[in-house]
Amino acid sequence: MAYLTLKNVNKIYPNGFHAVHDFNLEAEKGEFIVFVGPSGCGKSTTLRMIAGLEDISKGEFFIRDQLVNTWGPREREVAMVFQSYALYPHMSVYDNLAFGLSLQGVDEDVIDERVQKTAKILGLTDYLDRMPRALSGGQRQRVAVGRSIIRKVGIFLMDEPLSNLDAKQRVTMRSEITQIHRETGATTIYVTHDQTEAMTMADRIVVMKDGYVQQIGTPKDVYFHPNNMFVAGFIGEPPMNFVRLTVSQGCIAVAGSTIDLVPLLGSRAADYEGKEIVMGFRPEAITLSLQEHACQLEGSVELTEMLGDNVNVYITLDGEPAILKVSPHETSELDSLLSFCIPYENIYLFDAQTEQAIAANNL
Ligand code: ATP
Repeated sequence: MAYLTLKNVNKIYPNGFHAVHDFNLEAEKGEFIVFVGPSGCGKSTTLRMIAGLEDISKGEFFIRDQLVNTWGPREREVAMVFQSYALYPHMSVYDNLAFGLSLQGVDEDVIDERVQKTAKILGLTDYLDRMPRALSGGQRQRVAVGRSIIRKVGIFLMDEPLSNLDAKQRVTMRSEITQIHRETGATTIYVTHDQTEAMTMADRIVVMKDGYVQQIGTPKDVYFHPNNMFVAGFIGEPPMNFVRLTVSQGCIAVAGSTIDLVPLLGSRAADYEGKEIVMGFRPEAITLSLQEHACQLEGSVELTEMLGDNVNVYITLDGEPAILKVSPHETSELDSLLSFCIPYENIYLFDAQTEQAIAANNL
């Protein structure tokens, strides 16, 4: 059995609100799982059910092969880091780190050894005598992480731990947390609404929306093979472009090009005759030079956004907005009318009604 198993887990709050529907997940020992999704999709609720801070309304939660639905947080041996990294303000960094172990009656020598080791991992050795008010946001966050890892538990839960930090600190802490995870080997569940955090940190990502799991997969899976339009639009920055089109004689016509659906959909192309489908392509999965095995489209340029390493070009395609991500070296000759190519393997097709993927690229 996996290290953590959630089977058809549901949360119905006392006011009747059904916040999480049939959540299923098996996490292996040492895996780094990220729950990602927009505000209110049920990420924190699920994490709190795993922590034992919230009852499971329906379904089963196992740690190894033990059913733990009725176990309290302490028995589950989980450590949790919250968004608000409430440190004890009147205690030094050393005491903040040591406090949990002191409560458990751990020997002073052992506590000292673990505090020193944790401080070393987190780069806090020089700050052990400081009070929290004399630390930067990033340093405080490290103390909060330290307070959890010092307990050497098997399960590490984090709820948006970086959201109070500025952009630069977030990048630093992101790699620090990944490194700590490698060193501790604890099974980690990390909640964020930030798809970049999810993509850079996760072994596997759980994408959620409105209390439902949309997809579980590696960062590559969810980026290259999204199950539906929601995942395709949520993962990736800028998001995937979508164009609604009607299928006629097995083809779709878009911005100066006709795309034969048979090579993409096989015999299923016939099922969509006369119906609407959605074509998706990623801003970065295009070329400005002519390509074979690609469709060539023409869009009118509305705006360009120079970002240094690349340029976002905002265009309209048959009246619909789209974004292209191109190299700054390619934009010097941008006309108001821009031709570009989407290699066939970079085209996604979705059912316009169900929004489910009907063909994905074959990367
Ligand atoms: P965020 O990123 O904003 O923290 P989230 O994905 O973590 O969002 P949750 O906090 O899990 O979302 O909340 C999921 C849904 O459950 C939300 O619609 C929220 O309003 C609702 N909810 C949360 N707590 C309760 C509660 N105690 N009673 C009723 N509804 C609740």
